[in-house]
Amino acid sequence: MTRVIIAGGGLAGLAAAVRLSDHPLDILILESAPRLGGRAWSFPHSHSGSDVDNGQHVMMGCYRDTLDYLTRSGRRHLLDRRRGLALDFVHADGRRGVLQAGRLPHPIGLAQAFLRYRLLPPASRLRILRAALRLRALRDQDLAALDAKDAASWLRGLGQRDDAMRYFWQPLVLATMNTEAEQASAKLLAVVLREIFLRDAEAADMLLPQDGLSSIFVEGARELLQQRGCDIRLRCTVQTFLTDGGAVRGVRLADGTELGADAVISAMPPWALQRVLENSEASVLPAIDFDRFHPSPIVSVHAWLRRELDAGPMTGLLDTTLQWVFDREEDSDGSRHYSCTISAAAESVVSMDEEELRALLLRELRLLRPDLMEDDILRVLAVREKRATFLPLPGMERLRPEARSGTPGFYLAGDWTGTGLPATIEGAVRSGYTAADVAVVDLVSGAEPRPSAR
Ligand SMILES: Cc1cc2nc3c(=O)[nH]c(=O)nc-3n(C[C@H](O)[C@H](O)[C@H](O)COP(=O)(O)OP(=O)(O)OC[C@H]3O[C@@H](n4cnc5c(N)ncnc54)[C@H](O)[C@@H]3O)c2cc1C
Repeated sequence: MTRVIIAGGGLAGLAAAVRLSDHPLDILILESAPRLGGRAWSFPHSHSGSDVDNGQHVMMGCYRDTLDYLTRSGRRHLLDRRRGLALDFVHADGRRGVLQAGRLPHPIGLAQAFLRYRLLPPASRLRILRAALRLRALRDQDLAALDAKDAASWLRGLGQRDDAMRYFWQPLVLATMNTEAEQASAKLLAVVLREIFLRDAEAADMLLPQDGLSSIFVEGARELLQQRGCDIRLRCTVQTFLTDGGAVRGVRLADGTELGADAVISAMPPWALQRVLENSEASVLPAIDFDRFHPSPIVSVHAWLRRELDAGPMTGLLDTTLQWVFDREEDSDGSRHYSCTISAAAESVVSMDEEELRALLLRELRLLRPDLMEDDILRVLAVREKRATFLPLPGMERLRPEARSGTPGFYLAGDWTGTGLPATIEGAVRSGYTAADVAVVDLVSGAEPRPSAR
């Protein structure tokens, strides 16, 4: 049987396998870690045993491939859909605002969300609306030219002033691209905004996980893949791609084992793929400008409180260090679990110790419950993901490689490849689907026929 090896068992690798498993193929996933899921995973907390995510993940109605993946793996019901944005905000001075689509049909309902956002003066709300209209009129050829620009200058060119930048655009850019607008590709932001705001009424819905990430994104897919005969091997590090006659013919693992294949899909992050390519025969393999792919961190601070905060499921904080507070509801020991996110965290935040984090939580969570006391914070756990995403700098879009690498038998997936989306679950799943589809086309059409090397 034709064999496809997938190197990396994050969501891109799992999605590639799910898609490939529709075909009569011998599929082998090789994952270096002792678990699947990559950067989206959960683990049992030592105190309560409840699942804790490595960081809060939010999906959106426009995550079409992710929803397909979850439907196939039987886990779609574990996402709670909040209709029409539904975002609460609290400013450091205590003022509150909400972004919630109105009842009128799309896109007027969405325009109502901007017009009712009380944290900005009416003139700034109107300017946001005008920017949205200009975005709507943007043609695809204009979009391509935007890659050279940063998102902040582009937005300012669309008439956005300091207040809208600070209390509307920056939170949106940080949440979707894990960087400040000054460092983000304007093209990528324009694509994100079009996906979320201009596609259809459901695209802007927020989808919040109702269980641990591993249960939602890994377990269902693993069960499906095992039922379909896919071989999943953990603690297997791919060290070298084996080549022959200008094509990739398999992999060598760190323990020296050689495994032949008709096609290999790399679903590793750029920093891992770079190492494997350096060990392989360079002349055959694609040249990727890895030096331009820089990581951006996310710090997630989990807090278990004695008392409930006056907050909905997802609250944005403005002019604070914590950016989002998610209510993860009551834990099995009766405490209330909150997950707080700091995207593009500065080194001073990444290196905070528990005492500093407790002080930060007390200060900023008091915005959501002014009578919160020090001993209301029962437990704190910080997860520091230093390589949460790649930094989508201006000019990066043209450097992100296509799924069909140019080397026969070798395909690329992962949130950093040329998906046209920022590093997100949707980008990862889409990249896995695309790599699987092009590999199948090549294998079936015989464009790259090779006998199995086993
Ligand atoms: C804290 C945090 C919060 C986030 N929040 C959101 C969010 O709200 N919404 C959203 O859409 N996205 C979010 N993301 C981004 C999302 O998690 C990632 O984009 C996605 O999980 C990336 O998947 P991937 O499969 O491309 O890469 P990865 O998850 O990195 O998977 C790659 C896999 O390859 C394995 N590997 C590496 N080297 C080798 C080797 N040599 N041999 C074999 N295996 C190897 C790794 O162990 C890993 O399992 C967040 C990420 C983090 C960290």
